[in-house]
Amino acid sequence: MLDFSEVAKELTPEQAVAEAKRCLQCRTAPCMRGCPVAVKIPAFIRLIADGDFAGARRKIEETNLLGAVCGRVCPQELQCQKGCVRGVRGEPITIGRLERFAAGCGEAALKADSHTMRVAVVGSGPAGLACAGELAKKGVAVVIFEALHTIGGVLKYGIPEFRLPDAVLRRIEDEIVSLGVKIKTNTLVGRTISIEELLRDFDAVFVGTGAGLPNFLGISGEGLNGVYSANEFLARINLMGAGIDEHADTPILAGKSVAVIGGGNVAMDAARCALRLAGTERVRLVYRRTRDEMPARKEEVEHAQSEGVELLELASPVRVLGDIDGRVRGLEIIHTEQGGTDANGRKSFKEIANSEEVIKVDSVIIAIGQSPNPVFSRSVKGLEVNKRGGIVIDESANLGGETSIANVYAGGDAVTGAATVILAMGAGRECAYKIIENYEKRRAAEV
Ligand SMILES: Cc1cc2nc3c(=O)[nH]c(=O)nc-3n(C[C@H](O)[C@H](O)[C@H](O)COP(=O)(O)OP(=O)(O)OC[C@H]3O[C@@H](n4cnc5c(N)ncnc54)[C@H](O)[C@@H]3O)c2cc1C
Repeated sequence: MLDFSEVAKELTPEQAVAEAKRCLQCRTAPCMRGCPVAVKIPAFIRLIADGDFAGARRKIEETNLLGAVCGRVCPQELQCQKGCVRGVRGEPITIGRLERFAAGCGEAALKADSHTMRVAVVGSGPAGLACAGELAKKGVAVVIFEALHTIGGVLKYGIPEFRLPDAVLRRIEDEIVSLGVKIKTNTLVGRTISIEELLRDFDAVFVGTGAGLPNFLGISGEGLNGVYSANEFLARINLMGAGIDEHADTPILAGKSVAVIGGGNVAMDAARCALRLAGTERVRLVYRRTRDEMPARKEEVEHAQSEGVELLELASPVRVLGDIDGRVRGLEIIHTEQGGTDANGRKSFKEIANSEEVIKVDSVIIAIGQSPNPVFSRSVKGLEVNKRGGIVIDESANLGGETSIANVYAGGDAVTGAATVILAMGAGRECAYKIIENYEKRRAAEV
């Protein structure tokens, strides 16, 4: 029986040293060009090869406070490992696994300088945590305001324990708190407290409110009992303990047969969680293209399949069917076929006429993307957002920057829409630097 304990195993010290010794220590470090937070990859790998594991951890922490997270969930194959010279004729160095190994060694050696500034951080996902951590290292007084009862954002409520154990997040929380950061949970900025109040009490505000608004298909039957957005389904399990903790107040009813619609990491997590629930016998992923086109990490698709998730490729949902009590009893799909390549380099697909089929399912989980959460942005008069609901930042920004409101900065999924942990962290870090720089410029001008 599958459980929620971590699936991907950690390297042993011997394995880590052997892997680190394969690194060619390229002077041009192509691996670093693929890392949005510029982790000093060759340097930390060299330290592992020398057996200085705690030193390797410190090297990672110079630029990345969430190494234990990134080592587990970053799409390394598309980032650091993609540029690895070893990969030209063989296997690239498994940089992510080495990062995860080093990040778990020794103690954090974070030190805070001193500074006169006060910053409010809204949201405690990777963007907020990275921003808060960088600011706190410079001695800035930081308070994180988080809507939920616990920190982490998607790292807590979305990504399941079997990919990212809660203990990793708790350790990061301890480290951030040890830097002097204060955390106020159960505080929904825009409702519990306003931006005006924050700007009165703080010199600047960073907004990392993420993309927690699930997208729906707009097909009939989506309102039936047993249809979940992946966000709701995962949050019930990961945040509220449904299906894991027998004393949890929140129920989860997936039934014997589950269909998950989508092909990204969110869909894989939902499918693998569904498979772990008591009573679930069959989980099918319905995806309109083929496996090769799935946006999920290859490793996640492999894990899902090896655990027993079935892939129903080239199939698109038409409607959800219900019984007389309003509960899901089936999903009508239509088969599709692959066409040519579109402008974005993705294969197009088209429905095959008269190929509809009904599959018997007890629940349907919709994992077709999320949009920025509107609660905060709608509460702020004059805050510019784009047509997808993303907060607009200054054009010169790379990942994160100042919004249309002076002293209010934003980054992560709240700006880009659903993206990745490392991009959100990069944005938080970039904003931390800008917040300090702009504050110091203003102070100098005042003198
Ligand atoms: C199920 C799932 C699996 C994923 N898997 C991967 C993966 O394997 N690899 C990867 O790189 N990326 C993955 N992602 C994407 C990644 O997790 C996100 O891109 C990343 O978490 C975005 O970080 P963020 O800090 O911008 O937002 P979030 O992580 O969404 O955090 C935002 C935080 O802000 C809080 N908040 C929102 N509004 C308010 C408010 N008004 N007041 C106070 N607090 C507020 C929220 O409660 C939340 O805690 C996954 C996403 C999901 C949903």
